[in-house]
Amino acid sequence: MSANFEGLDDLLNALENQPDAIIKKAAETQEFEIECKKCGKLFTAHSGKNKCPNCGTITNLTVEIKKES
Ligand SMILES: [Zn+2]
Repeated sequence: MSANFEGLDDLLNALENQPDAIIKKAAETQEFEIECKKCGKLFTAHSGKNKCPNCGTITNLTVEIKKES
């Protein structure tokens, strides 16, 4: 005997997509140590535009999420 679980596909899809959203959020709030391309100073940066505290150069940091397929 089998029963149909209505909306199961939607539920599974939502669960499948959840990790991406969580990882993306984590990546956006994560801090990275990067090196200024101009003066070479190491500073803490996050996803997006970051201003070097030493020389003021803007570094655009893109966080890539690598997925295993
Ligand atoms: Zn700099």
